[in-house]
Amino acid sequence: MVFTVMLPCFILDKILGSPVLQSYSMVMWAIGLGFSFILLGALIGLIVGRIIGLERGTGMRTFALTAGCQNFGFTAAPVAEILWGPGILGLLFVHNIGVELAMWSVGVMMMSGDRRISWRRLLNGPIIAVIIGLSLVALDLDSSVTGPFRKAMSLMGAGALFIEDARNPANRISPAFLEAFEKPWKLTAQVPYSCLGPQLSALIERAFVNGLHDPALRPSALEWEDALVQTADLMHPCANSTCPAASFVVHAGQHSCPFCGTQLPAPVLLAHSYFDRGNGAFAASGRVKILHHHAAIHSWHIRPEFAANEHASAAQAQRQAYLVREHSQIWLMNEAIADLRDIGAQTDVAPGQPVALKPGQKLLLSRANPAQLWLIDEIKAA
Ligand SMILES: [Zn+2]
Repeated sequence: MVFTVMLPCFILDKILGSPVLQSYSMVMWAIGLGFSFILLGALIGLIVGRIIGLERGTGMRTFALTAGCQNFGFTAAPVAEILWGPGILGLLFVHNIGVELAMWSVGVMMMSGDRRISWRRLLNGPIIAVIIGLSLVALDLDSSVTGPFRKAMSLMGAGALFIEDARNPANRISPAFLEAFEKPWKLTAQVPYSCLGPQLSALIERAFVNGLHDPALRPSALEWEDALVQTADLMHPCANSTCPAASFVVHAGQHSCPFCGTQLPAPVLLAHSYFDRGNGAFAASGRVKILHHHAAIHSWHIRPEFAANEHASAAQAQRQAYLVREHSQIWLMNEAIADLRDIGAQTDVAPGQPVALKPGQKLLLSRANPAQLWLIDEIKAA
């Protein structure tokens, strides 16, 4: 899909109306340079390969061709755009015709020893898009490609628009065209991205709205991981046994399942994390955990230096405590938290013992510096 539809649309969108491509000599120079740089690169690769002792049949040709082939596609496009502005991309794609010609003729000959050129291999989506685009520019017909087709082409490529963009509803999913199995997942009015909770919603806006055309604004992989881990702590099982989603994210604006409408069972307790800032003054860490029946507490809920990722040791990934709901009472069953203490009742809760939870209760989770505290709170279901 990306290579045969989206990339060609992106290429055509960049080539049509590009003033620099109206120059015949510029087009020929671009193709010629693309072709010659591959040959020159492969030649330098052969010389260097000989110097470092490679031989034909033991990596010489592979080394020469791969070392000689500069990056001309996905990495080159943003770099060229930053250096010379968005108008350069049309020229880059034309230059790539020369690169492809060299790769599929001289490159294939070098690797296989076969002197026939496989022209059919050359006819891929991006190359066809460049040829169509150049023909339209040469015939001065590119300005007449307008209307819905041009807009659709632009939307598939450079003009991409997030389907839930709050400022521009032009690319919304129409429920009338959805198949039964696509519901409720693609009903964005019923299940908007915001139902994923505050952490993931903020990153989705950065990735697909603000950063859609500006990669520097997009979140890093680490930010996604942290948001997913925090969101997992906000999940609550749905009380409806036939719910298509089985569980959902609980947050300020969402106290019922967005997939089936079932309300949360009352009461729902949650824990706000606090840490000792020094002198016994505690500050909120911003982390929240929903304390539903069978929710598990791990070392990363107790200590800030542990994280729920691939660096967690088997001991750190071991469950430290869990929650049990009995009628409307929620119990924390301590399994391995050494420092657990109910501050209000001034009692220690040793491993193996339960503690009944109630709103307003403060639990000391860890005495090590900085000490960690949970403040138990209740969600008032609407
Ligand atoms: Zn549900």
